[in-house]
Amino acid sequence: MKEITSAEFEQEVLAGGKVALDFYSTECPPCEAVAPKFEGLAKLYGADIKFMKMFRQQNKPLAEKLGVRSSPTLLFFDNGVQSPVTLSGGIKRSDIIHQLDSMLTNERVEEIKKEIKPTVSEFDVLILGAGPGGLTAGLYLCQSKVNTVLIDIALPGGQVATTHEVSNYPGFIDPQPGYMLGHNMSEQTKLCGTIYKVAVDVSKIDLEKKEVVVDEFETIRAKKIIIATGTSPNLMGVPGEKEMKGKGISYCATCDAKYYGDKEVVVIGGGNSAVEEADFISRFASKITMVHQFDALTANKQAQDKLFANPKVSILYSHEPRSFVRDGEKIITEVENLKNKNITKLVSDGVFVFIGMKPNIDLFRDKLELDNWGYIKTDEDMLTSMPGIYAVGDVISKKYRQITTAVADGTIAAIAIAKEIN
Ligand SMILES: Cc1cc2nc3c(=O)[nH]c(=O)nc-3n(C[C@H](O)[C@H](O)[C@H](O)COP(=O)(O)OP(=O)(O)OC[C@H]3O[C@@H](n4cnc5c(N)ncnc54)[C@H](O)[C@@H]3O)c2cc1C
Repeated sequence: MKEITSAEFEQEVLAGGKVALDFYSTECPPCEAVAPKFEGLAKLYGADIKFMKMFRQQNKPLAEKLGVRSSPTLLFFDNGVQSPVTLSGGIKRSDIIHQLDSMLTNERVEEIKKEIKPTVSEFDVLILGAGPGGLTAGLYLCQSKVNTVLIDIALPGGQVATTHEVSNYPGFIDPQPGYMLGHNMSEQTKLCGTIYKVAVDVSKIDLEKKEVVVDEFETIRAKKIIIATGTSPNLMGVPGEKEMKGKGISYCATCDAKYYGDKEVVVIGGGNSAVEEADFISRFASKITMVHQFDALTANKQAQDKLFANPKVSILYSHEPRSFVRDGEKIITEVENLKNKNITKLVSDGVFVFIGMKPNIDLFRDKLELDNWGYIKTDEDMLTSMPGIYAVGDVISKKYRQITTAVADGTIAAIAIAKEIN
């Protein structure tokens, strides 16, 4: 791995050969997450591809010229020609491998794959999921000197990191941007010394053996596991949704509302998330039509009152979406009036869906006792039906899913485990 500057770019990168170049910054958690993956792959692919890094802040003009707008960003060059593929944000090892493989022959890729050596590491506790529940458990365990590893398929922060504003987390007088709250929780736990393996592919989870395989080669074993995998947005399951997911249909206002400046948007849902996020989207969009299946919104009164006072928002009650069809730049949402069965076509620039969540339990669904809605049942110590396996946060069976309740669950599980282990 060689560190270069703009002055060396032409000679080291453009002069020829295959190059993978990492534009990194300091005080950048996603850069810290990608660095060990990039270095590990440099050892594997180093004979064929040169691995280089460049400090983005000190080489800004070149970074901008190359289209690098965030850190980390990985660029790839073949004989001086830049690949159209750039990787940025929470970059997975598998994403980098995919790009590196595309630069080599199949035979060479096969040879390199044979050199990958499986690794095994052992910890006292393995936490799956780095949202508020998992991060809090990690903090308490670390402060109790319990050797803990925190694994997440994305960057740390969980759903908080994609919530635009949090006004009900105690300790802050003013509302906090969700990404900052998530960042601070994560840094506190990391600074304590908890080991992070984030933006990884979780290939296999064996709860009986208390073993998780990440990125297909790294086996991590522990005496106890805490499941803190949270929930994911429900999909509507109507025609056109799958095709337009991420291409006009979004499930995250914080991520995508900014793309709808002065545009018209449809919001599906009527609970707290839908109402609060519609209000947020209205900072950007010129018009919002909410589609809600019931006669009245189900969000709390304070959120409803704020929405009713918002002149950009109108609400279609007792309607459900039936299909999404692309029409040039627009999306046509066909909605059915549940009372008279009439179909109306809503033309908009984008659609946001907030119709509830489902627990992230796909990799161990059959192993644990669940409630009727698929959430994991736990006792008062957060222990599940399987010895040594705990669960905390939104993924467990409970009445109220909030940051404070996830944090409380994480605290309880960590204290219970620390007592047992110590
Ligand atoms: C739009 C929105 C707004 C909200 N606003 C508020 C609010 O204002 N106040 C409030 O208190 N609460 C709010 N909430 C709820 C709050 O965000 C959640 O209750 C809280 O984040 C739950 O924390 P958690 O740690 O259980 O799960 P999450 O925050 O969901 O984190 C779970 C983590 O697990 C990871 N993961 C998933 N599957 C796997 C796997 N197989 N292996 C490893 N990792 C995995 C995910 O990547 C994620 O990082 C809001 C939620 C949403 C969706």
